[in-house]
Amino acid sequence: MKAAVYMEKRDPPKLEIVDLPYPEPGVGEVTVKLKYVGVNPIDYWIAGGRYPLESPNRIVGSEGYGVVDSVGKGVDEVSVGDAVSIYPWLYCGSCKYCVRGLENLCVRGGIIGGIWDGCYAEYVKLPVNNVVKVDSSGREEYLAVAGVSALTAYHAVELAEVSKRESVLVYGASGNVGMFILQYSKIRGATVYGISRWGWITSYGADYRLSLDDLERYISEYGVEFDVIFNPVGGNLFGESLKYLSKRGRLVTFGGLKSMSSEIDIASLYRRELRILGSTGGSYLEFKRVVQDLAEEKVFPRIWKIFSLEAATYALRSLFDPERSGKILIKI
Ligand SMILES: [Zn+2]
Repeated sequence: MKAAVYMEKRDPPKLEIVDLPYPEPGVGEVTVKLKYVGVNPIDYWIAGGRYPLESPNRIVGSEGYGVVDSVGKGVDEVSVGDAVSIYPWLYCGSCKYCVRGLENLCVRGGIIGGIWDGCYAEYVKLPVNNVVKVDSSGREEYLAVAGVSALTAYHAVELAEVSKRESVLVYGASGNVGMFILQYSKIRGATVYGISRWGWITSYGADYRLSLDDLERYISEYGVEFDVIFNPVGGNLFGESLKYLSKRGRLVTFGGLKSMSSEIDIASLYRRELRILGSTGGSYLEFKRVVQDLAEEKVFPRIWKIFSLEAATYALRSLFDPERSGKILIKI
């Protein structure tokens, strides 16, 4: 099979197309013939060396959709020909987190496309517990973005307990995850403000679009404060966003795109009873819910570009193209 692999970790990453043996499924495993694969910053960080990971696996790609091509012994949950979406966290099912339904925190877990060969390939072999059967009448491109983009957003909105009549501010609102945070916050009845240069975010759940430069002025002019702020940008912008929260407000992070450290005003944190929440991935149950939402188009991605597998290097590098305006996919 054809696969795009990195030979060494370097920034910007470089992937090479190689021919590898067909990944035969073992006991309890399935092999999926991929159709669409989502491109995410984590793929870039792994192949680029920023993600601290020692693994012999060289195929990145945590997000994908395809059809079951072969099944190993003991698999009766899915059959050859079933359309499936991929849950990207390997998990043991028996540690103290897994038994609470927190597979994303499994002590023996890890991410597909990191410690396990991922989806930038014609086929991927997976534990059967990492695929969810989907209604094949859904749009294939949409079903490919469940595992990272939509799931990360759904879980973060759940953790923050966004509720009716609350106001929500989303940094990076046109990003892979941001566009789904807008939609899931809207579904929960919040008033949603998105920071982005792109006008289309108002068709994806944002009631108001703000630019980073206007934010301070807008807030003081209209006296707005936010119950929940989602900020994956990191750096100084993270700590600064505390001051825009209402009392008991929640600041949520699921990454640090610009920088992983930030200064925090501790006085404001305790005097106003603010909370800072970290969020990573999402549970298996949440994933099933997200897949259903995408199949029914209750939520959906804005797709910017679709690349071939041969152009995987360009797909990865396009993540940081300043003109990027939506999700990048690879069509296998
Ligand atoms: Zn576990």
